[in-house]
Amino acid sequence: MWEIFRPEIYRYVRNNEIWFDPDSGLPLTRCPWLREMPQEGKNKIRYSCDIYLDRPEDCRHYPTHLDEMHQDECEMLELHDLVKPKQAQKKLDRLMSDSRPAYL
Ligand code: SF4
Repeated sequence: MWEIFRPEIYRYVRNNEIWFDPDSGLPLTRCPWLREMPQEGKNKIRYSCDIYLDRPEDCRHYPTHLDEMHQDECEMLELHDLVKPKQAQKKLDRLMSDSRPAYL
């Protein structure tokens, strides 16, 4: 689909794998569509995806499981999620229900 409808995204694909520098062909260490959005007056940076509506399938499914969030040191994970992981997983599945099937 990207090849036909979003060639500017497809430029970063090599042999059906993402993401590669379109000029050098070398793999990128960071997603080229991740945008830092400094929060005015706050000491925090928020991130957004420049291709959110056309993002890869893996991105649509992430995060799948609480362990994955823990491993990636996800800032959205809270202490009560670790205390009640089943309940937290159900909540995560509910939040992600537009993007992927439930894990549990
Ligand atoms: S959602 Fe995927 S494509 Fe978008 S910024 Fe994050 S890693 Fe990149």
